[in-house]
Amino acid sequence: MAEQMSTFLTVVGGGPGGYAAAFHAADLGLEVTLVDTEPNPGGTCLYRGCIPSKALLHVAKLINDTREAAEWGLEFGEPKMDLEKVRRKTRSVVEQMTGGLGQLCRARGLNHIQGRAGFLDSNTLAVFHNDGSEIVLKTQHTIIASGSRPTLFGPLINSPRLMNSTSALQMEEIPETLLVIGGGYIGLELGSVYASLGSKVTVVEMADGLLAGADRDLVKPLHARLQTLMHEILLGTKVSGMKEEKHGIRVTLEGPAVGELSRLFDRVLVCVGRRPNSSGLNLSSTGVTVNKKGFIEVDAQRRTSDPAIFAVGDVAGEPMLAHKASAEGRVAASVIAGKPAAFEPQAIPAVVFTDPELAWCGLTESAAAAAGRTVHVTRFPWAASGRATTLSRSDGLTKLLTDPDTGQILGVGICGAGAGELIAEGVLAIEMGATAGDLDLTIHPHPTLSETVMESAAALFGLSTHIYRPKRG
Ligand code: NAD
Repeated sequence: MAEQMSTFLTVVGGGPGGYAAAFHAADLGLEVTLVDTEPNPGGTCLYRGCIPSKALLHVAKLINDTREAAEWGLEFGEPKMDLEKVRRKTRSVVEQMTGGLGQLCRARGLNHIQGRAGFLDSNTLAVFHNDGSEIVLKTQHTIIASGSRPTLFGPLINSPRLMNSTSALQMEEIPETLLVIGGGYIGLELGSVYASLGSKVTVVEMADGLLAGADRDLVKPLHARLQTLMHEILLGTKVSGMKEEKHGIRVTLEGPAVGELSRLFDRVLVCVGRRPNSSGLNLSSTGVTVNKKGFIEVDAQRRTSDPAIFAVGDVAGEPMLAHKASAEGRVAASVIAGKPAAFEPQAIPAVVFTDPELAWCGLTESAAAAAGRTVHVTRFPWAASGRATTLSRSDGLTKLLTDPDTGQILGVGICGAGAGELIAEGVLAIEMGATAGDLDLTIHPHPTLSETVMESAAALFGLSTHIYRPKRG
């Protein structure tokens, strides 16, 4: 006989969407039960995504920095790598962060159940533990935050040499040759890690450019540097076949640069997108609507079409980004607590943690063009930044999109070292309805990369101090 429990709010999924929702709801005084398959909250982001990949990107940066020190007269030998220690340190980062979330759960008096939840009806969930035992949980409200999983890929084979983002993060080995399928966020981040650690990395991207959502002028400096790090980047290229052989995976590539080519790789990493985890929750026993792409349909308050159920994060639609999930989670929790709240951001930042980093928020130039919207675009090349030059990183670019009539900032894009940190100013500017004049008049510390944001605003008036581009007309 299954154990029976009841709670006011159940949050299904303990990733950045789920735990942010659960913590916020508890902070607002609600009685909360968080159900997740792991012993502590964290989800894909902490266990198999953002956090371990950033730890490994830090290792890659240490290696690259020592290599590039030569131009400053500092010579280091080739790094000796203890892969087991890299793995251990990465694991300890993950354990520290997830353990901390576990403590925060307990401090807030949250009920955390380790198990897999499925709906019996709109107000009842069955939670199965790993040992097969079951809890039947009566709940007034549920927030679904079940996340996403890697998309499977056409000519897949069953081989231990074939990796997805999860297995690639385990760093079983540094293969001599690695094929990365997909030139998006994961392909470029993890491809960069393996290339820095010594693999000969080939990236194949089906589209005719890397990172489809980003403006081309911002991708350009990244592409240029990646070309020096990777063995090859093949655009407009697809994988038409894969076969396991004794010494690797034989892959057939088809594209303009290679024609039809067969090549052997030690390992292949597939990162062609992610899809929402909406199946497996038995949503058919509820009034929740799932669209053709598998996303749960939600309104601005993150309500589903079932009055008792809300959904946030990757399962509730693009962009599949942790910080978007957390913001949605807090909205859903607030609404359930009876507070006026809606998810209506003016700008959701996107950051690709490559070297250089690529970050943007608000309107992009390509989205403006697609919508037939006229915008003013100003750019500040980092070659004119003192700070970038002291860092030997004048390969960056900061750009601003403004409304031609009001000067209001509509979009900010940055490619360069630390762009992921810099973009927050752009998000704030857009959310506050700031104009280019506001940014221009805001004193930025010197010498910092943040000055490039101020100078790109000044450039709108032809008044940037460190570039000479007088205003036309
Ligand atoms: P993605 O959508 O970023 O990129 C997938 C790429 O694969 C696309 O460029 C696509 O054109 C290409 N592609 C698709 N099918 C292909 C094929 N058959 N052959 C060659 N190329 C093919 O997806 P991802 O990199 O798997 O990441 C998934 C999601 O995870 C992202 O959309 C992002 O939301 C999230 N993520 C974010 C971060 C971050 O915020 N830094 C990091 C990792 C993942």
